[in-house]
Amino acid sequence: MLLSKIFLPLTKDLPTDAKIKSHQLMLRVGMIKQSSAGIYSWLPLGFKVMKKIENIVRQEQNNISAQEMLMPTIQSADIWKESGRYNEYGDEMLRIKDRQGREMLYGPTNEELITEIFRSSIKSYKSLPQMLYHIQWKFRDEVRPRFGIMRCREFYMKDAYSFDISDEEAKKSYNKMFYSYLKIFSKLKLKAIPMAADTGPIGGELSHEFIILADTGESNVYADKKIFEINTNKYDSSEKSLEKMRNDFSSFYAVTDEKFNKSDFDTKVKKDDQISTKGIEVGHIFYFGDKYSKPLNCLVDHQEGKKVAVKMGSYGIGVSRLVGALIEVNFQNNVMKWPKSVSPYDVVIIPNINKNDQKSFEIAIKIYKDLKKQKIDVLLDDVDENMSAKFKKHDLIGVPYQIIIGSRSEENRFEFKEVGENSILLNLEEIKEKIKN
Ligand code: ATP
Ligand code: MG
Repeated sequence: MLLSKIFLPLTKDLPTDAKIKSHQLMLRVGMIKQSSAGIYSWLPLGFKVMKKIENIVRQEQNNISAQEMLMPTIQSADIWKESGRYNEYGDEMLRIKDRQGREMLYGPTNEELITEIFRSSIKSYKSLPQMLYHIQWKFRDEVRPRFGIMRCREFYMKDAYSFDISDEEAKKSYNKMFYSYLKIFSKLKLKAIPMAADTGPIGGELSHEFIILADTGESNVYADKKIFEINTNKYDSSEKSLEKMRNDFSSFYAVTDEKFNKSDFDTKVKKDDQISTKGIEVGHIFYFGDKYSKPLNCLVDHQEGKKVAVKMGSYGIGVSRLVGALIEVNFQNNVMKWPKSVSPYDVVIIPNINKNDQKSFEIAIKIYKDLKKQKIDVLLDDVDENMSAKFKKHDLIGVPYQIIIGSRSEENRFEFKEVGENSILLNLEEIKEKIKN
């Protein structure tokens, strides 16, 4: 793409009402635009990044045989009355009436709807286990929407639901999801730590929040620093290995506010190993047994003949919040560097555009065409402004690789820079290698 042709409403001024750096950056480079309190439009650059995150989530969910589907945003109040959550949910739920006066709502989550779908079609243990997920907008009328898309009212979430015949089987589904989440975050180059969260009805540790450490996070985190040293690559996807992985993580103290207890912390974690800091919740997984299947009468025939309420878990990831979380982690000293896997472009070509230097732009166009042929998603900065203005702008856009064509480039070798490192002179083949590696 040519930069001059992209809808990229850059602003020079620091937005005054944006308190954290992800919110500031997203407004400055025009990734999002607020349309009303806590509700945002996603402009092309922001949308592109979010879609890449979504695709990584999708791939990893498919890898554990979760099946993608799509449920609507608008739901009937009836199923929520059946589960008992219609009143309980309170003011966070956006309630709507249709022209017939029927009570509807904009879904804040989907346990009821998925259970209703499931109960009407699955009748036997033979069809279990099942894992279903969708990636869809949610609405929660947060009391204090803030920090841009980090805590907003309309947000994009992946939510998955598992269905099993017994607690024991359900635990296996839970472990698979746990594993899938660690894979997702590792592809995003994020170190997300599973923290034991408030437990479900069967006790144990079967609820985890996945937290990324960041000063601007809203969660307080208390952990044994050894949990950060666990090498997740050593686990494979076999049942045994997955169980071991969850147990290994659970063996270290790591909790957020709701489960924090000072004397526990002090007895379980050596003073030198104690970490108490802030983090961003990017995912939450939960096993809740028959909490919804029972009231909603979602029963299946058991092997032994009797009917049992199906055992369920739910598993959320904040896809839109992850865009902000990635910026909080990767935007340092006013320089943004997207991880390759979600960068809006693979590489940007920055030629010196100057009346006395026609040649740089010609070379840039040639390289641009060549890279495009190789299916490399390349951005060419064809805007007429000086190099220092260009560099400042690209510090914010955050494409991790730059090809700079100006005084330093030679006949067949060009200045190549990975953001955060010194530039080097490389020929085109070497550059392609670097981008693809
Ligand atoms: P929080 O504790 O941040 O309010 P939650 O516990 O209500 O989140 P879940 O119901 O577990 O959230 O939702 C799953 C994921 O959806 C969260 O881990 C988070 O990443 C994302 N999410 C939840 N609420 C919001 C919001 N208001 N804005 C953006 N993302 C959100
Ligand atoms: Mg939560």
